Amino acid sequence: MAQQIVSRSPQDSTDLVVSAPAATVEQVQTAVIRARAAAHEWSTAPAVQRATALHAAANAVAGAATELADLIVREVGKPIGESHGEVARGVAILRYFAQQALDPDGETYPSADGRALLLARRRPRGTVGLITPWNFPIAIPLWKAAPALAFGNAVVLKPAPDASAVAIRLEELVRTALPDGVLQVVIGSAKAGQALVESVDAVSFTGSAAVGRSVAVAAARRGIAAQCEMGGQNASIVLPDADIEHTASIIANAAMGYAGQKCTATSRVVIVGDPAPLTQALVAAVEHLACGDPADEATVVGPVINEAARARVLEAAAAAVASGGRVLTGARPGAGDGWFVQPTLIDGVKPDSTVAQEEVFGPLCALLTAPDVEDALQIANGVPFGLAASVFTRDLNIALDLAHRLDVGLARINAPTSGVDFHAPFGGEKDSSYGPREQGKAARDFYTSTRTITIAPAAS
Ligand code: NAD
Repeated sequence: MAQQIVSRSPQDSTDLVVSAPAATVEQVQTAVIRARAAAHEWSTAPAVQRATALHAAANAVAGAATELADLIVREVGKPIGESHGEVARGVAILRYFAQQALDPDGETYPSADGRALLLARRRPRGTVGLITPWNFPIAIPLWKAAPALAFGNAVVLKPAPDASAVAIRLEELVRTALPDGVLQVVIGSAKAGQALVESVDAVSFTGSAAVGRSVAVAAARRGIAAQCEMGGQNASIVLPDADIEHTASIIANAAMGYAGQKCTATSRVVIVGDPAPLTQALVAAVEHLACGDPADEATVVGPVINEAARARVLEAAAAAVASGGRVLTGARPGAGDGWFVQPTLIDGVKPDSTVAQEEVFGPLCALLTAPDVEDALQIANGVPFGLAASVFTRDLNIALDLAHRLDVGLARINAPTSGVDFHAPFGGEKDSSYGPREQGKAARDFYTSTRTITIAPAAS
């Protein structure tokens, strides 16, 4: 019997958002065969046709913005303000890549004999499998699908089970703008994801490090291109010259907003020098954050995604205490029936403790101290991940130096670790990423390959 995918609201587990049969291996394969059949015509259509279709898809998503934002709130518990922002970003991404479809599609080179034309042209990979997490259920599917489609690929998207309803609605909206079969959604969990990797011409994955690694291995075994964006353990380094209140407010939001469930959330604060003033300000800023019903406009911290996630955060806090840590605030379930956790700050742990090394993916942040900037840099870099890091200082020389030496894909000065510019390259180092960057002009590197063409004059 087919596995049933059940998605419930994290703020009210009695609210069944969707229950749908998981796609079987055969159904995933059928979707890929349909996509392949559609891909040829799509890839050879004039670029302006693909651009027009992506603008139409943007209009369809924009036309349903309120409905989609409400569904995001209901299905994944993202606060309504951020949910609206995510839908708007999805529309902007579609429009941005609609324009990129019309960009130059290659380069010319001087030929060996000076007479022939030597060209390097971008061509689509074919049918691309997209495997996505639940935490950005509109933005991540679209920041993969939009460039894939713009450059002439067909896509099959397998969303995370906990975000199935948003994906089903997104497919309904975007499909209206596209030829049949060019974009399809298959609902399912690991099995459907594995089947997709085994069938497509390239795979773009976002999710946890362990799964991403297995996707990269499976793709390598088949010899197909893979791009995996994975977790983070993101640090903010705070120097003694930083504005305490301002910095504390930025970090509190970056660590706890959306209950810390962003790959770029701040999980460690490395305080250079006397930790007392910033620690005090951070506790105050975190305790000031509005927690609760994500449908409330004022809410910054909603629930975590499910019961297992709440247990994981509370266990991580308990383990930190067992290893010598001190809870400054939080570490308890939040009020209400949903999967709420109080935003949690912990100090007194060592940089090599589990809580400061592994991704918790919840509203939990560890405060660490360093005697000087060099030690702070070592602590920030001393984790298996390398997604984002930020530095708070007024000293331009230190800022410049750290922007070069932080081992991350996103280095941010006087800005939160969280936050993504969809028109700039996005990705990390070490266990955070595998393969080429996503977004911006960089997206083309993954969704196309290059064909070098020589056109010589015929013998006269
Ligand atoms: P997850 O790894 O559990 O699942 C991600 C996707 O992979 C889901 O669609 C899931 O069904 C699928 N999947 C699971 N096992 C699979 C397998 N063996 N083969 C193929 N597919 C499989 O992640 P999640 O819980 O949905 O999301 C949270 C994680 O995502 C966090 O680690 C977070 O840091 C990361 N994330 C990273 C970024 C980024 O851009 N770096 C952005 C958002 C989230």
